[in-house]
Formats: sequence, structure tokens, C-alpha cells
Amino acid sequence: MNKTLMNDEKHYVTLNNYLKHRFGCKVFRIPLNANFSCPNRDSSIDHTGCLYCSKSLSGDFAGKKELSFEEQFKDIKQVMEKKWHDGLYIAYLQAGTNTYADIETLRKIYNEVIELDSKIVVLSIATRPDCINEEIIALLKEIKLKKELWIELGFQTMHDDTKDYLHIGYHNQDFEKAMKLLNDNNIPVIVHIINGLPQETKEMMIETVKYLNNFVIDGIKIHMLHILKDTPLADIYEKDKFKVLTKDEFIDIAVEQLRLLNPNTVVHRITGDPVKEDLIEPLWVLKKFVVLNDIDKLMRKEKYYQGDLWQK
Ligand code: SF4
Repeated sequence: MNKTLMNDEKHYVTLNNYLKHRFGCKVFRIPLNANFSCPNRDSSIDHTGCLYCSKSLSGDFAGKKELSFEEQFKDIKQVMEKKWHDGLYIAYLQAGTNTYADIETLRKIYNEVIELDSKIVVLSIATRPDCINEEIIALLKEIKLKKELWIELGFQTMHDDTKDYLHIGYHNQDFEKAMKLLNDNNIPVIVHIINGLPQETKEMMIETVKYLNNFVIDGIKIHMLHILKDTPLADIYEKDKFKVLTKDEFIDIAVEQLRLLNPNTVVHRITGDPVKEDLIEPLWVLKKFVVLNDIDKLMRKEKYYQGDLWQK
């Protein structure tokens, strides 16, 4: 068990503790918007997008796409530095599919971003499994020689029927192919999953984490499904009022997922930060610190740790 990075308070490996341990100071993310599209939005795969995808292509807190990278970086850095004066940065290409362009365009963007500030220690790139291929891997390896690089890979669930229902547009075989390329080339991967997807039971959400244990997963983001205004999912919810997890149900599932997870995987997030005005359900996600505190309390009370149920 990775007790170095867990402590009496947190029985799982938080990104914060991991980064402090590695860099010896606060490291914060600067989410940037390179105005990438997504094959699931531009009709290459579909035009609907994943049914839950927000107007900003899941980049709600990224910089404004109309601004240059320098301006986006400066704006967000100023806000962050009010809280932490002497930090380092992770430049995070967040909105849209950030490997979805021709190689020359990608090369130019990645190089521009890593050169924005000497205190950038990591470039983190969000993308989809079907937008990783050998050509992209060759470029990532080139960039990795200049700057530490992470790939944030949308996965959401191991259940292909759910992925089809939600028009996600890729399947487990795409994920497996992408993971093989990334793992074989030692490119760190942070996988995103979503709890509370329509038609999924607790057992199905648990199966998703067990499936992930077949790969080398450096980090994970465990999200709760957000039903956001002006999305196809909001229309479905209005008609069907499908089951939304309560806070306690989410905590119960997330804690079991943490216990099943490889103890060396860094937990980048549990729950997310929706834009309050856009959120229809569940409203309890707005109390993020209550959710995180309740997870800590349950793990401490029951003496649960990340990975105590992990099986290779
Ligand atoms: S892959 Fe991401 S950006 Fe593309 S439609 Fe789905 S959520 Fe939106």
C-alpha cells in the first residue's frame, strides 16, 4: 500500500499530496482553450456530441478561446496566485479533443503552450481514445523530451451499451488500442470515468474500475454525471426523470472504487465543478467539500484505504 502518499486524513492518494511530494510546493493547473473541435461534434462520428457534453465542450473553466494562450495563461495565473504565491503550473489543454488536428497544428500548439512560462512543469492534454494513433504518439514522444507530458483520456464506463446510448462514439476496443500505445511508450495516462450514467447500477460502476486495473493507469478522475442545461441529456431527463445518484449513493460507490483501485494510481478528482447556473441535477455536487469530507470520514471510520481490495 502506498502509505507514503496517504495520511491519517486522506486514505487515498490525492493529486495535491502527490504533486507536493514530487515538486515540494503547490502545483496548480492552468486550463487552456485551444479551440479544438471534437469528431463527435463535427459529424466525423456524430453531431450530437456525448449527450452530457456542455456548450464549452467540457472546458467550462478553461481560458476564453478568443484570447491568445499568453492572455488565457496570464488571466488564470493571476487568479491562482492570489491564493498561492510561489507555485508551479500544469498547463492543461482541456476543452474539446486536444489531439484532433493535423500533426503540424498540434506540434505548433503544444510547443507554444510549454514555452508560455518557465514554471510550467507538466503539459496535460485531454482527448478521446479514438484520437490517439501512432502518428500522435510519435509527436507526444517528441514533446515529452522537452516537458513532462500527461494524457487525460475520456473513458467514462466499460459498458459499451451505455456508451452507445450516450452517443460517446468510441468503444472498449478503441480504449484498449489507445492504452496499449500510451503504455508501450511510457506516456502517463489519467483516465476519466463517470458515475451515475443512465441505466447503470452500482455493480456496473464497480466493474468499470476493475476493468481499468488491467492497464497501467497513472491517474484517475472519478466524476459524477452532471445534467446540464442546453444538452441532449437535459431533454431526456425532462421527459424521463431517470434515476440520479444521491450524495450518499455516490459516496458509497466512490469509496468502493477507491478500495479496488491500484494504490499507486493518483486520484486527480472525485466529483467535478459544474457551472452553477447550468446545473439541473444533482445539486449536491455544488457542495464539493462536503462530499470530499464525507468520503474521508467514511474511509477513516471503517479503516478503508485506496487499494485495500485491489487485485492485479
Ligand atoms: S468527447 Fe468530450 S468534447 Fe467530444 S463530445 Fe464528448 S464530452 Fe464533448
